[in-house]
Amino acid sequence: MVDAGGVRAHVTVAGADERDTAPQLASDALLAQALQGGSATAVVEDGGRVFDVVAVPVPGSAPQAYLLLALAYDTVLARHLQQLTALATSFVRVGAGTPAQLLGSSLPEAQALPALLAGAGAGDIHRTHDGRHAYRAVTVARAGEARVQVVLQRAFADVLPVFERMRSLMLMLALASVALALGAGLLMAHALTRPLRKLTEAAQRIRDGDYRVPIEVRSADEIGMLAESLNHMRQSIAERDERNQKLAYSDTLTGLPNRTRLIRSILHGIEQARTEQGIQPNSWVPEPGHGHAAVMLLDLDRSSRSTTRSATRWATPVLSLVSKRINQAVRPADTVARLGGDEFAVALPRADESVAREVAKQITQALKAPIECEELNRELKLMDENPVEYDSSIDVGASIGIAVYPEDGVDDQTLLRRADIAMYAAKRNHAAWALFDPRHEVARLEHLSLVSDLRRAVAEAELRAYYQPKVDVQTGRAIGAEALVRWEHPQRGLLSPAEFMPYAEQTGHITWVTKWMLAVTLRQCGAWAAAGAPLQVAINLSTRDLLRPDLVGEVRKRLADHAVPPHLVCLEITEGTFMQDPERALKVLHELHALGVRLSIDDFGTGFSSLSYMKRLPVHELKIDATFVQGMATGDKDVAIVRSTIELAHNLGLKVVAEGVEDERCLARLREMGCDIAQGYLLAKPMRRKHYERWLKARDGVDIGAKAADAEPQIEHIELAG
Ligand code: C2E
Ligand code: CA
Ligand code: CA
Repeated sequence: MVDAGGVRAHVTVAGADERDTAPQLASDALLAQALQGGSATAVVEDGGRVFDVVAVPVPGSAPQAYLLLALAYDTVLARHLQQLTALATSFVRVGAGTPAQLLGSSLPEAQALPALLAGAGAGDIHRTHDGRHAYRAVTVARAGEARVQVVLQRAFADVLPVFERMRSLMLMLALASVALALGAGLLMAHALTRPLRKLTEAAQRIRDGDYRVPIEVRSADEIGMLAESLNHMRQSIAERDERNQKLAYSDTLTGLPNRTRLIRSILHGIEQARTEQGIQPNSWVPEPGHGHAAVMLLDLDRSSRSTTRSATRWATPVLSLVSKRINQAVRPADTVARLGGDEFAVALPRADESVAREVAKQITQALKAPIECEELNRELKLMDENPVEYDSSIDVGASIGIAVYPEDGVDDQTLLRRADIAMYAAKRNHAAWALFDPRHEVARLEHLSLVSDLRRAVAEAELRAYYQPKVDVQTGRAIGAEALVRWEHPQRGLLSPAEFMPYAEQTGHITWVTKWMLAVTLRQCGAWAAAGAPLQVAINLSTRDLLRPDLVGEVRKRLADHAVPPHLVCLEITEGTFMQDPERALKVLHELHALGVRLSIDDFGTGFSSLSYMKRLPVHELKIDATFVQGMATGDKDVAIVRSTIELAHNLGLKVVAEGVEDERCLARLREMGCDIAQGYLLAKPMRRKHYERWLKARDGVDIGAKAADAEPQIEHIELAG
């Protein structure tokens, strides 16, 4: 307390701690200032401590009293300040010429020391020398020359974790957003690229020729539209491809695979057999068929026993039925193909001899049952054709030839050729099937060399015409003869047509034989006619003959050259002959008819034509096949067939010839049925001209031998060109 009225002051001190310093705080200068101005402040130093002192007059006091408030710049204040500011606080006294002095600090002295040392640079924020703290020094009081600075200080170590945390938080945030962006990007990319990838894959599949797998991209956007149009394209390519495949690899008539597909299957079977040969090195017993593959060729032998059949359109349903039966008889892995005509082939993978034989047995069994009217009509219905009516059934047999890889051949062509050779062997031996045997090939080669000899045979007069009489059933008189060829081979002796005609037919050499026969027999016919014996001569024509362009001209020329009355010449053709190209054959038949020669349908009943079809042909005569004629002895069925054939043929204005008449009973029956002409061993076997003339004389008293002696025909050079 300072008495304002006096010079002396009495100081009362509140705060025991400061009891010693209080008198010094109330310095004279402060008091003088207070007396003048009412209140005053001063910085007071005392014993190494610095105070900020405020003197405030106490109102209403007399003598005037002053309240002195002293604030020490010391550790206590520094700690207070630190609590308020969260900054380490130190007070430093900086005097001119004296070292800086630490007045107090919220830090331990060692840590405050940097602040003390750095006392100079007030105002700015500095970094301590050790780099661990940041500080700022501000002058808060002046006492004469000396200043009191407050140093606010913070260790980086305290602040950094916050930054660290913030930094890692920010880093995490950045990472998270990157991850999020990445995820979203991926998701979008996935949504976009997956269908695109699928489309690309599909396009590649299409490029590689696989059109079957549909493209499964379902979306409403452009990609979806693209997929849809690609799918559309794929489907139409697939359909077109399938159509093309069908055309390229299947037989249009039966829908069966064709030769191309067959060869593929054979090659595949060979390949499989090859790889399997080495597969079972540990197996003692080879599995049946493994390491093998077989090829089968099959030729139909058809004969039908009916008289009221409908038309040539039968061939198709019959073939279709037969192919179905064959297909059902083979194993699922086998490929049945149609090679054309009545020829089929089967590729049998994993089949050795015994397996192939078993399959052949199954096929033979499947074809055994005759095709009945009902079955045929079912097939016709499937083909959208009108049903037919017939009183009997069609028998379809087959000759099968088998060749097995690798024994009979190691490539497709050899196997096929040898299966073909085996098939002919089966036909020759009247067997259902035959496995290839090297002896077959020798026989076949002999036949082929035989055929190549044919040209020589014709040129060097090795062929012979034999005559088999045709006799009027009612009168018993011979009306003429069928001319049948023989070959007097210099080494092999007399060969029957069966031994060389099938091959001559295949190679086309048959036309030479026909030319020769026409030349010789028409000359003979002319000679007989000139000698007063108008005897008919019947000559057989093959398919090749009927379709060759020079036939009509040739017949016309021979007729003219030898002055043959045309009605004495009969040309025999089988149904098969005109079936190959009916249009053209019909045209040729009309031209021949116009020449005035007679036309005869040979082997009637073994093909598929019907009597009503015959009506369209300009034919005069029908020869019932020997199988029906001879069948009459044992079966009522054949009796009925022959009887109705005769009746119907007569209704159409045709003469009927019965072939193969071997016994009297048969001839009597034919006579009773009204048959016109008979031919067969009962009447006479085919004979040389001289024998025939002798036979005629003995039978009918016709002595043409003497009359025609001058007309003995000489076989002259025959033009073989063409
Ligand atoms: P094809 O035209 O049916 O001739 C009838 C065949 O039956 C002849 O056999 C004949 O000898 C035989 N034959 C006649 N009567 C009887 C009989 O009572 N019983 C038996 N079992 N057979 C009888 P061939 O002479 O061996 O002629 C066979 C086939 O060769 C002929 O059948 C014909 O298709 C063909 N052929 C013969 N010569 C010629 C020809 O010059 N040209 C053509 N293109 N083919 C011919
Ligand atoms: Ca004949
Ligand atoms: Ca015949």
